[in-house]
Parts: sequence; structure tokens; C-alpha cells
Amino acid sequence: MPEFTAAQDADGVVTITWDVPGKSMNVLSLEGMAELEALIDAALADPAARGVILTSGKKDFAGGMDLNVIAKMKEDAGADPARGLFEGIMRFHALERKIELAGMDPKSKKGGKPIVAALPGTALGIGLEIPLACHRIIAADNPKAKIGLPEILVGIFPGAGGTTRLVRKLGPMAASPFLLEGKLSDPQRARSAGIVDEVVAPNQLLARAKEWILGATDADLVKPWDQKGYKMPGGAPYHPAGFMTFVGASAMVLGKTMGVYPAAKALLSAVYEGALVPFDAALRIEARWFTKVLMNPSSSAMIRSLFLNKEALEKGANRPAVADQKVSRLGVLGAGMMGAGIAYVAANAGIEVVLIDATQEAADRGKAHSEAILDKGMKRGKVTAESKAKVLAQIAATTDYAALAGCDLVVEAVFEDPAVKAEVTAKAEAALPEGAIFATNTSTLPISGLAKASKRPEQFIGIHFFSPVDKMMLVEIIKGRETGQVAVAKALDFVRQIRKTPIVVNDARFFYANRCIIPYINEGIRMVAEGVEPALIENAAKLLGLPLGPLQLVDETSIDLGVKIAKATKAAMGAAYPDGAVDEVLFAMADRGRLGRKAAAGFYAYDAGGKRSGLWDGLAGLWPVSPDQPELTEVQHRILLVQVLEAVRALEEGVLTDIREGDVGAILGWGFCPWSGGPFSWLDMIGAARAVEICEGLEAAHGARFRAPGLLRDMAERGESFYARFAPGAQAA
Ligand code: NAD
Repeated sequence: MPEFTAAQDADGVVTITWDVPGKSMNVLSLEGMAELEALIDAALADPAARGVILTSGKKDFAGGMDLNVIAKMKEDAGADPARGLFEGIMRFHALERKIELAGMDPKSKKGGKPIVAALPGTALGIGLEIPLACHRIIAADNPKAKIGLPEILVGIFPGAGGTTRLVRKLGPMAASPFLLEGKLSDPQRARSAGIVDEVVAPNQLLARAKEWILGATDADLVKPWDQKGYKMPGGAPYHPAGFMTFVGASAMVLGKTMGVYPAAKALLSAVYEGALVPFDAALRIEARWFTKVLMNPSSSAMIRSLFLNKEALEKGANRPAVADQKVSRLGVLGAGMMGAGIAYVAANAGIEVVLIDATQEAADRGKAHSEAILDKGMKRGKVTAESKAKVLAQIAATTDYAALAGCDLVVEAVFEDPAVKAEVTAKAEAALPEGAIFATNTSTLPISGLAKASKRPEQFIGIHFFSPVDKMMLVEIIKGRETGQVAVAKALDFVRQIRKTPIVVNDARFFYANRCIIPYINEGIRMVAEGVEPALIENAAKLLGLPLGPLQLVDETSIDLGVKIAKATKAAMGAAYPDGAVDEVLFAMADRGRLGRKAAAGFYAYDAGGKRSGLWDGLAGLWPVSPDQPELTEVQHRILLVQVLEAVRALEEGVLTDIREGDVGAILGWGFCPWSGGPFSWLDMIGAARAVEICEGLEAAHGARFRAPGLLRDMAERGESFYARFAPGAQAA
């Protein structure tokens, strides 16, 4: 079955339809590219063909390139993968250039055939790079469609001509949010930005494309950059305005990425160098930088975790094989910060929600949270009055547990207190249908313990959201000792409905994410106690690409929460509790009322408006800064290894059963260095032997928490990598 087909009408207009069999979204494969090229060649060679409409047989145009293509191009090149990639990429460039020049005479630029991209819906990645090579882009007025070049978000950049063409079309400044941030737009916004040329009613799409073809003149087919005297909008690098753009852009990108993302740097280089040379040379430069990025292990790891494995987990890679468990009516117990957020994301996904709190006022306040989010969306033009009313109508705020009748899933988000949780579990189960699944959103209490309050422990599970619920993409599903397969499937199907990414882990103290985050925070605090300069601690973390330094993170999550967790952990662990030095600092801060952002005082100082203004200058008075400061690398190793070793222990102990979940969960759950692809990908990048060596140095200097786990030592001895040993099917692209 072909991926592209062509049909010619009586007026000589050829419609090439992209419709990959068996897929809901078109993605470009090597075979597809060859088919498209053959159809374009045939149309250009056929004297009866007047022009070409390139469109899709699906509701969307295309989602991008099949990222397995990259792996295939590398593989096929054998000993010289960089050459294989470069030549493979240049084939895409050549096809697009062929579309762009459309058979016109190279000198007079006459005699070409008009080629129009007619986009019915979403057009992403190469699904926009090809249209950018067409002579006109006409999009259907479909507000759900997303148009853009999101490559940067998975660690690459638009390297099949999209970078060079967009910069030449919009100018480097206007193109930058689309290239550097992967910004997506609906068709109307894409038209205002100048990415698409025209937006028409969906039922007019093909008719308008044909009309344009029949009316096109030779001059309409010549791209600005192929015209004499072309000047880049906003100015090329040595133009006074362009100079400002390029100097500013380098500083901005470095400031935002801390230099840890090879794709951002390569993209800037491709844009800068490409702006200095003629168009075809710019395309070659783009392809060379793209090759360099694809050869970088960071890009491969990011593609693997943030694209391939994230998608695999979302599609149910670890779902037990039981019948569909889609949620139709959800109960949420506790309408506080988390419960209100969970109610919103569920209602927004079309699920009926019963939101219960102890008082009607609290329940209503929880529902008002949804209204506030929707109002913000309306201000940004993303939500209509009608869709707002529809979402709000899905939420019934009440104190009455009887309203849970008919709910097939309940998520409990009341106070973090086992007695309160036990009470609401019993009350809810009395009102719920027999088969309903009961989930707790606890962040610290073991699931198996809470399940004791349930009459149906096999229907009891943890569904752990992160705050703020509407923004954080990860959901950690936790199996208690007795949790059954239907409960797991229910949780996974629910997460899929609300379009988030799930990981499934076994029950243990702090599950997976918090188990790794807490030692990260603690290591930062421990360093304060040791006299390490706080700015060194924070900057060391940021230079690793972590979104927040450990001290800022504890300010955000609140220092009294840290105190509470520390006390509970100490009570549970007794003499083995290792964090006394951390607690001294934490408790001293709490005693002074420095509880973090919410108190406008913590490790950081805050101004009258609550804005963070800098590290608190009282820290040095309490914990004098040592004259002897550690090397940046040592601080970074400590910060990274405390998290990574915890992830390895979680795998060793069977809390994690799939390293893909460990990697995806770390990036989405707490922003663990996305450039690394996650803790296991990072270990594979540096190698287990080097990791053990770093651990030995840290253990000698800082103690047993850095002792390399047996699993890591074993891997070092055997020269194994995590992905080869634990996920052989999920090799990096
Ligand atoms: P919160 O204090 O904002 O909300 C708790 C809500 O539960 C309050 O509205 C309270 O009135 C209500 N409640 C208490 N007892 C009740 C009862 N008997 N019946 C009905 N409602 C009752 O707390 P939160 O931050 O939303 O946390 C809720 C749960 O989610 C906790 O278990 C917490 O550990 C967990 N959690 C919190 C976060 C976070 O970042 N805050 C993240 C993940 C998980």
C-alpha cells in the first residue's frame, strides 16, 4: 500500500495525497519520501499537468518524520554513520529544492509548475518543512490544528530545510520562537506570523488550492530568497539590526540553556552561518549541523526518552492485558490544591467529576480553581465561553458521599494523614459501586499501609500527581502489595484520557520521583551546613540543566513540608536515619519562620510583591562560608549522583521495573537534566565504570550515601550498559 497517491483532474491539476496506511497520523518514512519524489517527478515531467496540490487523506497533514529513519540512515552507513546521515538528510533537501524550483528555467526562473501545500490540520516537523518548500501554504481554518517545528523539544532542530527557509521567510528574530522554543500555532496564528500564506474554510481547502494554481504566474513561484536582491527580514548578521539580533540571541540561548543542549547551539550556528551564504550553501550548512547534532549522544538519548519511550508509555507499554477501563465518572475526595487540579484535568478531558470536600465552601473553592484556569485560557484566546461552560458543567462540587454512586474511579487527595485517609476511604467505599477503583494521591505514605483501610485492597492503588496538576505531565502509578491488574489498567486508562504520561512503580518509601528529589534537596542543604557557598550550589545545579537549584526547590515546595517529611522518615528509620546534618539547617530555618516562598522568606529573600530577589544574606551568619570552596565539578557530581544512585537503587530493589519509566519519569517528574535523556541514559553515556570511579571518590570524601550500588558495580565489571541489559529493544536512535 503506497503512502502517497496522485490523481489528475480535467484541468490538469494533480492532487498528491499523503495517507500512510494503518496510521492515524502521517509520518515520513524513507519509502514515503521515495514515493513522493517519484510522484513529483512524474507531475513535473507530464506536459498535461498544470500544477500540484500536496495534501493529506487524514484529518491532519503530518506529525513529522518517523524518527526511526535516523537510526536506519546511521545503520545503513556502517562504519561512517555521520556520512550516512549527511547524505540521507541531503536527499530530503534535494527533494524539497526540487519542489521549490518546480522545473523552472534556472536563469529566467520561468516555466515552473505551481505546487501548493493544502493542510487540513496539524503540520509538524517535516510535515511543515515540506510545505515551506511549496509555493504557497494554504491551511484549513481548524482551530485544533497545530502548526510548527517542535524538533528542539526532543533535542534536535529542524534540519530538513525548515530552519533555513523559516529564517529566510520571517527573519531570524521572528523565526526564533518557532525554532528555538518549538512554539506551535493554530492556523490563524500561523498566518499572522507569516508561516502559512492563507487560511480558508475547511470545505474550501482543495478548491482554493486549485484556484491558486490555475491563477499562478511565473513570478508567484519564485521564492523571495531566489529573487535578485533578496534581503533577509530584520537583517543578516552584518546588517546593523541583524547584528543586534544575533548577538542578543546567542546570549539569550546560552542564558536559557546553560549551554547543555547541543541542538540549541547547532541551530544558532546553522542560522548565523547560513545567513552569510547563498541559499543552497545555507541548506548544506544546516544539514551538516543537523548531522552533528544527530551524532551527539545527548540528542539520541533525548529522542529515545522524550519521544519514542514517552509515547510508548502513553500508549500503554506496561498496561496489563485486561478490557478497556476508560473512566466515565470520577470522584475526587478533597478539593484542596491537588484535588481541585485533578478535578480540572479530568473535566477538561470530558470526564464527569464529583468533587467532595468536608464543607460546601471548600468544595466550591475547589471548583473555582477550574474556573480560574479556564478564565486565564480565555484571556489567551485558547478557551471559548462555550467550552468553559462545558468543562465547568462536568464538575459537581458537594459534601455528599452519596454522589459517588456511579463513579468508576475515585482519587483521594485529602490531608496527608493516615487517619483522615482511612476515614474517607471507608465512607467512599460505602457509596461506590462494587467494581470501582479507589486511588490515593498520597506523596509519602506507603500504599499497602493505606490499603488496609479498604475492604477491596486489590482495587486500591496510588495515582500520584505532581503540582501544579494542570502543568505537570507525569503521573506516577503505584501498585500496593495487593493491587490487582484491573486497578493498574484503570489508572493507566485514566492517565491516557487526561493526556498525561504514566509510569508504574512498586510500593516503597517515597515511590520513585520523591525518592530521588528528596536526596537532591538534602544534598544542597547539607552543603550549606558544610560552608559551601550557596550560590555555587545553586549555579552548579543550573549549569547541569536542572530547572531549579536544590535551595530554590525546597523554597518552592516549602520548608515546613521538608521538616514534616524529615520527622516522619526519622521516626520510620530510627538509628539508620542518615540526614541529621540536613535537619539542623532545615529546622533552624523553620524555627525562624523562613518556610520558603509561601512565607516570602526561605533560603532566598523575596521582595514585598513576593518576587524572589536573591539568596538570603542571613545564611552566612548561620552557616559561615568556608574559605575553602570545592570545585564546580565536585558539587555537580554530588548533585547528580545523589539522584542517579537513588534511581539505580530503585531499579535494584524492584521499585522501578522498566528503565524507560525511570528516565521518562525523571525528566517529566522533576526536570532531571533533559539533555541527558534521564538518569539511566546518563549512566550509559558516561559508562558504568566511570560512574563507579566517581562514586568511589565521593564516598571517600562524603560518606556511604555515594557507595556504588551492587548493580552498578556489576555492570561496570561486565562492561554493560543499562539500555542493552534492561531494554534491548529501546536502543537510542
Ligand atoms: P490541601 O490541604 O490543599 O487539600 C486537602 C483538602 O482535603 C482540603 O481542601 C481539606 O478541606 C480536604 N479534606 C480534609 N479532610 C477531609 C475529609 N475528611 N473529607 C473531605 N475533604 C477533606 O492538600 P494538597 O496539597 O492538595 O494535598 C492533598 C494530598 O495530595 C495529600 O495526600 C498530599 O500528600 C498529596 N500530594 C500533594 C502534592 C503537593 O505538591 N501539594 C503533590 C502530590 C501529592
